[in-house]
Amino acid sequence: MKEYKLPALCRMTVTQLSAMLEAKEITSVEIVAACLQAIELRNDEIHAFLEVFAEDALASAAASDERRKEGKPLSSLDGVPIAIKDNIVIRGKICSCASKMLESFTSPYDATVITKIKAAGMPILGRVNMDEFAMGSTTERSAFGATKNPWNTAHVPGGSSGGSAAAVAAGMTPAALGTDTGGSIRQPASFCGVVGVKPAYGAVSRYGAVAFASSLDQIGPIAKTVEDSALIMQIIAGHDIHDATSDQALAQDYTANIDQGSMKGITIGMPKECFGEGLSPEVDAAIKAAANHMQTMGAVIKEVSIPDFPYALSAYYVISSAEASSNLARFDGIRYGYRAQAYEDLDELYRKSRQEAFGMEVKRRILLGTFALSSGYQDQFYLKAQQVRELLRYEIGEVLEECDFILTPVTPTTAYKLGEKSSDPMEMYLGDIYSVPANIAGLPAISMPCGMSADGLPIGMSLMGAKDALPRMLAIGAAYERAQNVNENLHPYDSVEGSDAK
Ligand code: GLN
Repeated sequence: MKEYKLPALCRMTVTQLSAMLEAKEITSVEIVAACLQAIELRNDEIHAFLEVFAEDALASAAASDERRKEGKPLSSLDGVPIAIKDNIVIRGKICSCASKMLESFTSPYDATVITKIKAAGMPILGRVNMDEFAMGSTTERSAFGATKNPWNTAHVPGGSSGGSAAAVAAGMTPAALGTDTGGSIRQPASFCGVVGVKPAYGAVSRYGAVAFASSLDQIGPIAKTVEDSALIMQIIAGHDIHDATSDQALAQDYTANIDQGSMKGITIGMPKECFGEGLSPEVDAAIKAAANHMQTMGAVIKEVSIPDFPYALSAYYVISSAEASSNLARFDGIRYGYRAQAYEDLDELYRKSRQEAFGMEVKRRILLGTFALSSGYQDQFYLKAQQVRELLRYEIGEVLEECDFILTPVTPTTAYKLGEKSSDPMEMYLGDIYSVPANIAGLPAISMPCGMSADGLPIGMSLMGAKDALPRMLAIGAAYERAQNVNENLHPYDSVEGSDAK
């Protein structure tokens, strides 16, 4: 591993930076400069950022400092920088979705979350890497090269929001936005030892997030702590007239009780279907140890059953691919992005543009989805998957009647080695087994660190709750974090020789 010296500010959480800005102990320009320095030091190796908006971020930081000087900050996070997954559009910037298809596509408008980030005064550091069109679990599917895991660069950071998670874990940004269709925020957060939040469907506007599977997609934060994630949720959540699925009832207060959460009297269910075959013994042990800690903090731990949990994965891959095949039809070589150079007629233009610009995994999903929707097979696959979806919603709902939250692993193993799974799509898909149910059921779920493997890779745990339970879930997550000091031990840069971080 290379030697590098990370600026001390890069260790700070969003919460700490916000307090230091408020107390005028630091400036936003200093924070952004420190992040840029960390990016400079480590991005060649980690490849989290696809593009860094150095000038814009510094200008926005300077404007923030002016506001702070006048005592008129736009929000408590005014001046705290953030990185954006490259499938969320920013006006005047390229949004590539890590695809050759959109390599030079510039967005004419801001996604609603970007409008909110800007209105809060948060400088945007740049756009970060992902699997092409968010299809994948490692970032190896990016058309622009894989991101590496900051804990061990021979391993993947997870995906598809791998750039977001790696950038936070490596101290290049205090927080990032990701998207989660079937685990893409939570799984990379788990692989990189940071916190990832998938809000309930409808809590955060999807306007301006490039659609993968519209009934499953959600934008959410990745940060170092649960409390930080709550602060970002507070900025990005809320009803939006531009997204018909945005839910007014989920315009909640995510920070109100964040420092008063208590495990006392909370019932946590552990589905027995999640702790069997296929789960690595180390992950199994870490989750059970976390459950024990929760119990000592006053929680009631209960074994529960979600009989159809194992079928969520098949339903997810049918539904998400079906929706993707329809959503990606718009990339036709005419309206957006890449166009083939030579073609005889319109048909050939469509065919060649799509053939040349989409990567292998994207093509696989389009084929799979088109097949699942084709006449004669629709009943057998798509409708069947929708029935499984209903059943799961019902079963999870039943469990949440008797428990406050459901505790599961995020992934069956710790981060894979680069290349380990990339030749076998089925193997790769199986890793999503624990994360897709939250999307299938539209429920909020968080992934937070709960231990380390013997070979020094982070292990995450997942909490899932009822549709409106995210504020409470964040509060008890933060309580757990405080009690266990999990984050104290989880800075990859501490282990690096030459780091002056400590
Ligand atoms: N691994 C999942 C997939 O490839 C995750 C996708 C996502 O959440 N964007 O479909």
